[in-house]
Amino acid sequence: STGLMAGKRGLIMGLANDKSIAWGIAQQLAAHGAEIAFSYQGDALKKRVEPLIASIGMSEMVECDVSSEESMDALFARLAEKWGKIDFLVHAIGFSDKNELRGRYVDTSRQNFLMTMDISVYSFTAVCQRAAAMMNEGGSLLTLTYYGAEKVMPHYNVMGVAKAALEASLMYLAEDLGKDGIRVNAISAGPIKTLAASGIGDFRYILKWNELNSPLRRNVTQEEVGKASLFLLSDLGSGTTGENLHVDCGYHVVGMKSVDAPDI
Ligand code: NAD
Repeated sequence: STGLMAGKRGLIMGLANDKSIAWGIAQQLAAHGAEIAFSYQGDALKKRVEPLIASIGMSEMVECDVSSEESMDALFARLAEKWGKIDFLVHAIGFSDKNELRGRYVDTSRQNFLMTMDISVYSFTAVCQRAAAMMNEGGSLLTLTYYGAEKVMPHYNVMGVAKAALEASLMYLAEDLGKDGIRVNAISAGPIKTLAASGIGDFRYILKWNELNSPLRRNVTQEEVGKASLFLLSDLGSGTTGENLHVDCGYHVVGMKSVDAPDI
């Protein structure tokens, strides 16, 4: 361990299982000395999350549904009671009706549009409100986004629109909280096979396409997203805020299919 996160305490939201991006981040932060509390959605996940976090020496876990103000208030009240102040927060949460993560964006329903925006965009702002109030100077907040915010990706649909809004909100959050010495950043992760990703139509095709066409000619790992989070959440990232760091094996710079890529 480098001790990069030694003495730092924080919250990771969005751990569902050992495939979660939140898990890649948790492992890195713990390995570098962080003390971490976790929030999980719904009792069904409790049994899965408990042994996972125990394996990295953690035990604090709080149920939280980000679509409920009461649930969020209860989570932060618990953190305030336990630690008083926190140093970092990871928001690894997104959701949309999987029936609208296939077919055409133009067919998105009002109800799912609003629900997707609420859970995948507003929740980060709501979390920042509460976390900033209890952050030490040098605090750092992180969310997860995807390239579907910047360019059209197959089936990403309303989630792409939500991620674009999340990336815009990041700029405003960075400005507002920067005056208090708090940083707000995003990681734009390349495709990784997780529970949430499996809801996206033809996700295996997207994975294969990225593997064949990204500059590094492979897909990014959970561990690599974790390592990038270590930079943004530790003092290494002290000069960086409002940034959307692409951890995608370089895919975001690619303009077209590489000449050496086989057909898929
Ligand atoms: P995941 O399914 O492991 O995590 C998604 C999490 O969101 C789950 O823990 C789930 O419980 C939580 N969640 C959903 N609705 C919630 C609610 N109402 N209240 C509280 N929690 C709720 O999948 P993941 O891929 O690790 O997703 C984490 C983040 O990474 C998401 O924002 C996702 O969009 C983003 N991301 C994923 C990829 C990818 O390819 N997997 C790429 C780029 C960005």
